[in-house]
Amino acid sequence: INKIYILLISLFFIQACGLSHDGSDPRVEELLAKMTIEEKIGQMAQINGFGGDIPNELKENIKAGRIGSILNEVNVKTVNEIQRIAIEESRLGIPLLIGRDVVHGFKTAFPIPLGLAATWNPEIVKKGSEVAAAEASSSGVNWTFAPMIDISRDSRWGRIAESFGEDPYLVSQMAIASTQGFQGDENTTFANGKIAACAKHFVGYGAAEGGRDYNTTLIPERELRDVYLPPFKAAVDAGIMTFMTGFNDLNGIPASGNQFLFKDILREEWQFDGMVVSDWASISEMIAHGFAADEKDAALKAINAGVDMEMASRCYFENLTDLVNNDAINENLLDNAVRNILQTKFKLGLFDNPYVPEEKQNIFGEEESLEAALLAAEQSVVLLKNENQLLPLSKEINSVAVIGPMSHEKYEQSGTWNFDGDSLYSVTPLEGIKEILGSRKVTYVKGLKYSRDKSNAGFNNAIKAAKNSDAIILCLGEEAIISGEAHCRAHIDLPGAQTELVNEIAKLNKPVIMVVMAGRALCIGDEISKSNAVLYAWHPGCMGGKAIANLIFGDVVPSGKLPITFPKSVGQIPMHYNHKPCGRPVNPSNWLSIDDIPVKTYQTSLGNTSHYLDDGFTPLFPFGYGLSYTTFEYSDLKIQTPILKANEEVKLSFTLKNTGDFEAEEVAQIYIRDLVGNVTRPVRELKAFERVKLAPNQEKQISITIPANELAFHNQAVEKVVESGLFKVWVGGDSNANLENSFEIK
Ligand code: BGC
Repeated sequence: INKIYILLISLFFIQACGLSHDGSDPRVEELLAKMTIEEKIGQMAQINGFGGDIPNELKENIKAGRIGSILNEVNVKTVNEIQRIAIEESRLGIPLLIGRDVVHGFKTAFPIPLGLAATWNPEIVKKGSEVAAAEASSSGVNWTFAPMIDISRDSRWGRIAESFGEDPYLVSQMAIASTQGFQGDENTTFANGKIAACAKHFVGYGAAEGGRDYNTTLIPERELRDVYLPPFKAAVDAGIMTFMTGFNDLNGIPASGNQFLFKDILREEWQFDGMVVSDWASISEMIAHGFAADEKDAALKAINAGVDMEMASRCYFENLTDLVNNDAINENLLDNAVRNILQTKFKLGLFDNPYVPEEKQNIFGEEESLEAALLAAEQSVVLLKNENQLLPLSKEINSVAVIGPMSHEKYEQSGTWNFDGDSLYSVTPLEGIKEILGSRKVTYVKGLKYSRDKSNAGFNNAIKAAKNSDAIILCLGEEAIISGEAHCRAHIDLPGAQTELVNEIAKLNKPVIMVVMAGRALCIGDEISKSNAVLYAWHPGCMGGKAIANLIFGDVVPSGKLPITFPKSVGQIPMHYNHKPCGRPVNPSNWLSIDDIPVKTYQTSLGNTSHYLDDGFTPLFPFGYGLSYTTFEYSDLKIQTPILKANEEVKLSFTLKNTGDFEAEEVAQIYIRDLVGNVTRPVRELKAFERVKLAPNQEKQISITIPANELAFHNQAVEKVVESGLFKVWVGGDSNANLENSFEIK
């Protein structure tokens, strides 16, 4: 009787909330029942924006219910008007989804996602997405194509800039944070300044062969499940409303027609009930892939895979009616897709509040937003080198030369995927430095017109300024356009004559601080060796210059950590910290470098380990690396659960002490290795991290709990298991952490 009572109460509650038993809005079915097949196909079509006046043809198409979504239209008056046409002049009054790539901020540009990942601070990422959602929604945008959560391990790939890096755990944490920021924790309504988020690109896109965009990806299922899928699963669990397919061919099947990915994994295993959009024209691209014969075939394959909406190309629009009429597909397939789309629109509250009211329009660059962008930039910068504690510079210094093509470029410092960023809010390093030191002490010489400039015509002035100054701040890197989609590089060095500029400046034997702004890891070991201090700033967004100045002069202490391994050379790629062990492990004493081999040697077995004769086996900088102005000491790593069961939690604690002179934050990182497995396991994997603030001499005992099921992996039978056996744990400030302990799962 009690059970029946509870059931009745829940039914009453669900009814009262206006939801049907599965949490969907009952109006979805009512609408669906009224729709013609053309109107259904219309909902599944997404077209590109137009800019300027609304074309008559578009008005007619909206009225006729032939469009479900528009992307790249951000003029709020226009958006309100097209929504009005959809709602008031179409037969069923269904509002439009207005999509945009709001990737790292809208008008207030935050650091590129790779930089955001370097903060190792999910709260900041969440805040960044909140600000982006508020600004974008004030322009009428109700759906962002972000977060991009492709595991990315190859800096040649231009889109690594847009990713959170190489590690499944770190990327998953950022996926959750970003989703929550865009959508809000509970009440995701457009009227509340929230927008639908989109997990992209499902899946494997970041593993493009050779780091060349759009290229083939080959990922064995176990690797897919252990490495590439976790961030997407985390996004589903965080309630993400939409998914996007990828351009890539995964193991022979293009993502946009991949039933295994969308039906078996996303819908069946994960029970995802949101909507799936294709990538830009990726359904029609299945023809070029040689996977579909023509557009009709492409439409058939995509709808069968469960892609609900087609972006940009028109395979669905032109062919779905025929496919239904010829019984190639059942109309139910269309209903499923439309259900997902309508449900997304209901969830966003678009049926009730579709417009941006006058007082909420175009709200950008609020003080609180700029402060959040500043904090994000400050925490994203990674201190790679600080010889003889050159940094922080004293504010009493008499003169500095600010040199280089990235010193004063408001647009470039915000990086790729920054369609809407407003330079009005940008502070460049030159401006930031002048604000702290006063203009009188600062000489600025660009030296090179832009990062790719090959001419050394500006060097003389740069050298003169450098000679006359007490310290040199060299702002180098890549312009925004050198990373991003389709902007891959085979040589990931400082482009143009920048290396030559470093060499010339280094000859002066003066203190040189190199600030690098780039969309990827650059192989710049030589340039680093010629600088006394190096700050790696990614593309830090609008407040980047202020952040860099605050760091250089010690108002803020660096705390960023690398979210990707930095290789010494392109030839070392792929290189990531969580690789598999090999049968011939290297240690520093048993490998040969190219200079060690005696001449006229036929063969030597000494040093037959997995390494390069010319670049060894270690990276330039390991994953997780980043210095501070202070020093930290880790000690006393204790495991409270030395023996535990697979359904229990690993409990550990350690002491972290600030042993230097500055109050600062450290990102403590916990790595674990499963020593013997049914399949080989990575040499170490990040399983937890924590940002800790400590005053000089202060120490803190930090306790961490890791559910043992976080140690699960896919075995030979591709079953997810936590195996019994011994596990090693390390804690420290990067992935080379050497304070260790162990535990056993029984
Ligand atoms: C990209 C997507 C993006 C879409 C819309 C495509 O080229 O791959 O990530 O969301 O364009 O701009």
